[in-house]
Amino acid sequence: MTASEIRALFAVASRPEVVSLAGGMPNLAALPLDSLSAQVGELIAEEGLVALQYGSAQGIPVLREQICDIMALEGISAHPDDVVVTVGSQMGLDMVTRLFCDPGDVVIAEGPSYVGALGSFAAYQAQVLHVTMDDDGLVPEALRAALDQAERAGKRVKFLYTIPNFHNPAGVTLATGRRAEILAICREHGVLVVEDNPYGLLGFDGQTYPALRSLDPENVVYLGSFSKTFASGLRVGWVLAPHAVREKLVLAAESATLCPPSLNQMIVSRYLETHDWKGQIKTFQENYRERRDAMISALEQHMPAGCTWTHPDGGFYVWVTVPEGVDTKAMLPRAVTARVAYASGTGFYADGFGSRQMRLSYCYPTPERIKEGVRRLAGVLESEMDLVRTFGNVSMKPISGPENPSPDTA
Ligand code: PMP
Repeated sequence: MTASEIRALFAVASRPEVVSLAGGMPNLAALPLDSLSAQVGELIAEEGLVALQYGSAQGIPVLREQICDIMALEGISAHPDDVVVTVGSQMGLDMVTRLFCDPGDVVIAEGPSYVGALGSFAAYQAQVLHVTMDDDGLVPEALRAALDQAERAGKRVKFLYTIPNFHNPAGVTLATGRRAEILAICREHGVLVVEDNPYGLLGFDGQTYPALRSLDPENVVYLGSFSKTFASGLRVGWVLAPHAVREKLVLAAESATLCPPSLNQMIVSRYLETHDWKGQIKTFQENYRERRDAMISALEQHMPAGCTWTHPDGGFYVWVTVPEGVDTKAMLPRAVTARVAYASGTGFYADGFGSRQMRLSYCYPTPERIKEGVRRLAGVLESEMDLVRTFGNVSMKPISGPENPSPDTA
């Protein structure tokens, strides 16, 4: 296990003078804190002896029912018995990898992919094979080629890990027309699909897409989360799995945590019961759309020629590609000196690719700070490109070591 590049960044990026476009923290400012705090008080007064007690390893039944209603918004028809509540969907990722992967097994993932998932795959010594995306998400022909390549090399592919909606970090969404094809390819090759969908309800126009799970329930393990649609600090997520897998998942969950936190599950459940949670999601969508607009217009206004970026219509992230010769990891300490932080692209690949890419998050800062951050970043890029023009490729400069302290100790 190694520390993710993003984790190391949090320390520097959280200094107030730095505009952080690096982290993916949800913007919770719009939550109704007063009514939530009253509700938590009531919960403990009325049901404290249950809320503060151990519970079932699978999660409390009423919440599992409510989770089924939420998944129905994306076309999933599920039974609460097949839902396992987890400590965030990160725990779901860890458990699914633990169940399926032996060292050396292959997991296919989009390139780039979610850094936390790559961390779980590495922890269980699975080998990641990345598959290209375009503006419509995962490219089916590339998936077919990767599966053929793994088979020819005699590798066991355990599952395809995919984030179909408002991808982290790429910001793109898998086109509806591609979904059945991707599922059919996985079926042909006897490969399970792990669908990670924390952002699916955060489309800026309220649009949703059919979940992969809704199209092939028997071959898809679905991961969901309340982190982006309610409160990430409660750490409540879930896995919906085909029946046979679900039983093993409950055992894995039990060995990891005995049970998910009862109080937090009950807070989520009561919130869903008593608050206008759909209205709250709409408010989140509006906040994120305003920030996305601020970022895209600042990129258009300031970024040097030769840079390109994706245009997310939901979620938290824009994926930027910079001109040849610029190395975003090497550039990061200089960006932090200029008081802006981003996540360099290499953290989102298991194979060292991504040095010409970076992830910019617009979820957390105010629109004004986002604009200022992009303006600073564009300035850093201009000087970096000048260096490249004068001295050639600057990617070979080490970014840490005695002469170049790493950004979080500098
Ligand atoms: N999957 C993806 C794609 C994510 O972006 C995140 C959070 N950044 C997670 C899973 C983990 O979320 P949770 O808070 O539910 O553990």
